[in-house]
Amino acid sequence: MRNLNPATGSTRWLYQADNGNWVLQITVPGCVRQYEVEDLGNGRYNLLYLRGDEVRVYHLARKMGPFCKAEWSCDCPDAQHNRPGQCKHCRGLHNALVSLPF
Ligand SMILES: [Zn+2]
Repeated sequence: MRNLNPATGSTRWLYQADNGNWVLQITVPGCVRQYEVEDLGNGRYNLLYLRGDEVRVYHLARKMGPFCKAEWSCDCPDAQHNRPGQCKHCRGLHNALVSLPF
């Protein structure tokens, strides 16, 4: 485990796909990616990265800590080896969700 700094970048919702999932764009330096977000309920989400015929699925989960502080996990290599809970998927999805109107 290297414990690098949290991923930084920007995120925004793009559109709702025909299947009802929303498409999220996550931008970090040198990389812009779009993901379909599958809300599985209970703080669990799948991020589907679609590239041609290839579909890569990242499994994310959010637990609520004290004072509703969200604690995230993701099964991507970056979260597993470098930034537990702080990869671009966790940070991007979290910030996209908290930016929704109430
Ligand atoms: Zn990740």
